[in-house]
Amino acid sequence: MSDDADQPTHVDLGQHSERCRECDAAVGEAHDNACWTARCLVTGLNRTGCTADHDCGQDLWTGWWPGQLECEQLGWMLRPGVPDLNRLYTEAVWDRDRCLWVKPT
Ligand SMILES: [Zn+2]
Ligand SMILES: [Zn+2]
Repeated sequence: MSDDADQPTHVDLGQHSERCRECDAAVGEAHDNACWTARCLVTGLNRTGCTADHDCGQDLWTGWWPGQLECEQLGWMLRPGVPDLNRLYTEAVWDRDRCLWVKPT
């Protein structure tokens, strides 16, 4: 069984991926401008949805779905491998310097 590389499959949360499923960026490479996986580095939220008047920066593909590692670190998981992203986006705060979500202090 192999997924057709040209067919973006639904996001498999919890799965490491060598390439961004949306724009095909490799780990450590910047997403392309239209990629909906990329995060705005100022707000931590989806870059394609960011309408703020600032430079959203160049988010890099890490191999993990955005928020996955933070949820694991914070223990905010719905079940093993499935991060509770709603909780992350409502309760955590975005640390611009480190480019990750952290618990509010
Ligand atoms: Zn991408
Ligand atoms: Zn932005």
